[in-house]
Amino acid sequence: MKPSLLNRRQFITRLQETPEWDIIVIGGGATGLGTALDAASRGYKTLLLEGADFAKGTSSRSTKLVHGGVRYLAQGNIRLVLDALRERGRLLKNAAHLVRRQSFVIPCYGMFSKLKYLAGLTLYDWLSGRYSFGKSRLLGRKETAEKLPSIRTQKLSGGVEYFDGQFDDARLTINLAQTIAEQGGTVINYCRVTGLLKEGGKVSGVAAFDTEAKQAYQLRAKAVVNATGIFVDDVLQMDSPGARPLVRPSQGAHVVVHGSSICNGSALMIPETSDGRVLFAIPWHNHLLVGTTDTPIDQHAQEPIPLKQEIDFILSTLRQYINDAPGKKDILSQFAGLRPLAASAGNQATKEISRDHKLVISPSGLITITGGKWTTYRKMAEETMDKAISVGALSPIPCKTKDLPLHGCTPEPVADHTSVHGRLIEDPLAVYGTDQTQVRQLIGKDASLGTRLVSALPYTEAEVVWAVRHEMARTVEDVLARRIRLLFLDARAAMQAAPRVAMLIAREEGYDESWQKEQVKSFLQLARNYLIADGEEKE
Ligand SMILES: Cc1cc2nc3c(=O)[nH]c(=O)nc-3n(C[C@H](O)[C@H](O)[C@H](O)COP(=O)(O)OP(=O)(O)OC[C@H]3O[C@@H](n4cnc5c(N)ncnc54)[C@H](O)[C@@H]3O)c2cc1C
Repeated sequence: MKPSLLNRRQFITRLQETPEWDIIVIGGGATGLGTALDAASRGYKTLLLEGADFAKGTSSRSTKLVHGGVRYLAQGNIRLVLDALRERGRLLKNAAHLVRRQSFVIPCYGMFSKLKYLAGLTLYDWLSGRYSFGKSRLLGRKETAEKLPSIRTQKLSGGVEYFDGQFDDARLTINLAQTIAEQGGTVINYCRVTGLLKEGGKVSGVAAFDTEAKQAYQLRAKAVVNATGIFVDDVLQMDSPGARPLVRPSQGAHVVVHGSSICNGSALMIPETSDGRVLFAIPWHNHLLVGTTDTPIDQHAQEPIPLKQEIDFILSTLRQYINDAPGKKDILSQFAGLRPLAASAGNQATKEISRDHKLVISPSGLITITGGKWTTYRKMAEETMDKAISVGALSPIPCKTKDLPLHGCTPEPVADHTSVHGRLIEDPLAVYGTDQTQVRQLIGKDASLGTRLVSALPYTEAEVVWAVRHEMARTVEDVLARRIRLLFLDARAAMQAAPRVAMLIAREEGYDESWQKEQVKSFLQLARNYLIADGEEKE
């Protein structure tokens, strides 16, 4: 059991005492943290700067799939699928406490569709080779209805079951940050890059601003990586004002509902929606996560808000397949994320733009990595660091992350989703992996920390204390959105828990009452975006 080495104060001291870094990574999502881990584990002096909290951007707003991408197979993008399947297998091994094997069922309404999907998924299994998650198979009508209890059975001919991975995205970013620290790297949240330093036209570091201490820094580095997701163009503008945009944003919305009557442990995969995509309904932390959409968007918001038409689309698609499907009144939380899709010329629909990544070296030596998927973050990081070594003239050291267990990784994989008497059952502390014992010890030492934050859900005060002491949570939002996923699971419950969470953080950090009031106020304001708008619940 390794202790968590995340400590913001110590990292700030290290930042002040280091005259030059081998590499500075801008952005603390999957891509940036993956790159910083690759660098630190190779032995380079590594600094990662995140302007808000780790995973504040897209990396906490995904569909939570660790997958090869059945849809990309249908688009003929075999290399992307192959890479992703390999990375899926590595993640199952290196983050065994967070990535679980998930059964998916495609309901079929005709013999032809059954055979078509089985053929495609057999190819998917074959491509996964030794990284297979389980063999796809045909299901009869009865078995399909058992696995998907509310499925419409009129004309149902059966289904196809296949296996992919499912995870908790924001929790994995915290484990990446912890692993970077264990490898000697430095990661700082709430420290925003505001400019690039240059010598002789070449990037030689960054200007950064610690938004907590209101302190500005000039930080030197041999190589600088721009891994800011949907915001990469803002950093490219710092480098070269007027540069052509690299990213074309596309929004994906999700809703979360109570759902064990829809999915009995297995996930539902709807293979052809009216907009030519797929829709998933996946068990997640004892709830059901349904999504997603693909809506071109012009703004780069840090808090994207699902559009009414996106929510209508998700619910109406579900209604076509499910009896007594959830309506707006049943939505516990809604959230959206922005895909940093690599822009291509012309008027391509966003659903057709490749999910592959783009790695660009600017004439100044700034390295920009964008696009890709959560699943492939490790491979993207390896490629980025290989480039950074040559750009920054670092002495070459080979990549070490293929078999590197991430902080919390357990010897045994986390259990498959199961349901008992129609209720999904998942151990709420399983996500902490090897840290679980220490979270329990907090309650052992102080029984009051075993108190639930809200009575109907299993999250305890001990997790808040843990998040502040060992996971660099700084605000109520950090705790309720990304350490504990309450905001994404049940926004009203999260709003109810906010004052208690503010009090616990204040007690740990010595903040006063006005800090608590301000925190609760801004969290409640943010959380409203995760609720269906007033007046729409009845629709
Ligand atoms: C709706 C949706 C569903 C998805 N589902 C899946 C899925 O199921 N499986 C999968 O594999 N992939 C999925 N993806 C893709 C995946 O989520 C993304 O590819 C991935 O999260 C991108 O991570 P990132 O680090 O590049 O970007 P981000 O997570 O957005 O990170 C960028 C970070 O940079 C920070 N930043 C910005 N500017 C600055 C600055 N100036 N200084 C410091 N920091 C800065 C931001 O605050 C942010 O935290 C999905 C994407 C979306 C949108």
